[in-house]
Amino acid sequence: MNNFRLYIDCGVKLGRTAKREPLVPYDAAELMREMERVAIHAAMVESASATNYSYVRGNVEVAEACATNQRLFQLVTCPPTYKWEAPQGLAYLPKLLDSGARGVIMRPTNLNHDMDPFDLELIVNILTERGLPLVLFGADEEYPKIRRVLEAFPELNVLVMDGRWGSLRHLFPMLEKFPNMHIDTCCNQANDIIDIVAKNFGANRVVYSSGYPGRVMSGLKPQIEYSAISEADKDLVAHGNACRLFKLDAPKSYDTCQMDEVEIAMTLGKPLSDWVVNDVHGHVVDEDEITTAGVMMFNSCANSIVKKMDALGIGKIVFSAWEGLFGGGPRPNETVWCAIQNHPDRIYGYATANPNYKDDIAIAISYLEKHKNFVGLKPYCQMQGRKFNDPVYKPWYEYANKRRLFVLVHSGDQETANQIDDIAATYPETTFMMAHSAISFESARINVALAKKHPNVMLEITFTSMTRGAVEYMVREMGSERVFFGTDQPMRDPGPQLAWAVYAELSMEDKLNVLGRNMEKLLARTLPPLGGKL
Ligand SMILES: [Zn+2]
Repeated sequence: MNNFRLYIDCGVKLGRTAKREPLVPYDAAELMREMERVAIHAAMVESASATNYSYVRGNVEVAEACATNQRLFQLVTCPPTYKWEAPQGLAYLPKLLDSGARGVIMRPTNLNHDMDPFDLELIVNILTERGLPLVLFGADEEYPKIRRVLEAFPELNVLVMDGRWGSLRHLFPMLEKFPNMHIDTCCNQANDIIDIVAKNFGANRVVYSSGYPGRVMSGLKPQIEYSAISEADKDLVAHGNACRLFKLDAPKSYDTCQMDEVEIAMTLGKPLSDWVVNDVHGHVVDEDEITTAGVMMFNSCANSIVKKMDALGIGKIVFSAWEGLFGGGPRPNETVWCAIQNHPDRIYGYATANPNYKDDIAIAISYLEKHKNFVGLKPYCQMQGRKFNDPVYKPWYEYANKRRLFVLVHSGDQETANQIDDIAATYPETTFMMAHSAISFESARINVALAKKHPNVMLEITFTSMTRGAVEYMVREMGSERVFFGTDQPMRDPGPQLAWAVYAELSMEDKLNVLGRNMEKLLARTLPPLGGKL
């Protein structure tokens, strides 16, 4: 038996869907294999087909899977009107719950029903009688409805899934007001989120969930393992809260361990300092600002980033300033320059320019000239209303080509790929780093096709979606020397993004290329500032 922390994944789906990505599994056999491989000890399972074909059929399929796999537990998909339509009428839901299902999951958009206290009364009464929870999903427009449910049924435990790091300004006031509200980890990848939630609302308010099979099953473990909360609190988030909410016994350990040594180190929350790990994609916030306009951003200054890198075992990072993605100007470049001077062994910089201001490209080049650690350019064309092949960038790209720098490209769509296709061959010494190449398999295919045309196009992975299998797909298509680990920290917590690469089913050589060797090679081929010979 191994000594890994026990985990219950509260966000797993099984079954067929109308549209299907061929590399995404849908059956219980593959689910059980993955759970054992990455040490997830039990799972709360929702039916995927219940939300498109028939919830009755979907619930039967999941009940059958749970009956034959002792680590799986059913969440029933059910509309509030089931008594007029389901077999057995009113008794349908109580029977499923009495047969072992552990709660009800609402999908009002897919099942086309309203969701307010008036509609939910019957289901809530059945759940409250049994002490089981209601599971809801938090898109921003849903929060007023969820608030009404929390307010109307204070005795009911409610788990609000899929709240994003960008939605914390909706979630935090609700967590403060409603002690019966719980949240999950899946999309909530804000930096240090577990520490922040535990400190402000208690560690008993969060459960582990992955979003399998669309997302990497073990991907959120680092949020817990590398947090500063107590071991007892880590146990609560990993499985204890799920046991309490869903009335489960603690799951059993596995007898075997199928992980490689990097995966084991991460599973135990140890820094990966025995290996070369480098982050090619970050955005620092000046320490005077602390947080940002669009999202709550925690511990976002350069010193905090380095502290986090130490905890995870990330050696080097290349970042731009967050401010440079928006208004631009000299200040964000100065922020990066200060960080480089304070941490010259760890921090490398992307210069930023907003070409809507006439001097910005010249300012960015002047910063690139300051130090060899300025190794890249980060034009955020989508935000600033430009295209990557806009002639306004020509002097910047020409400079980059002379120094063999890299350009971080916010990508994922065909239009952006076309713009890079237009300029990649013109600047053959410049590396075009296609950020977010693994948002989805669709994005990965678009960027793989581009990379096949241009040897100076590379694929970077970071995104909240943590698409299961996409890293492996890109390595299969392009070889591991063209795929890069990056995080977008401190907007997203770097831990889950690192897990995405660490838990990918790759050979050790391929994994180490992705994790850091590739970035070492890129850094090594950049040339020093030109010293006035522009
Ligand atoms: Zn970014």
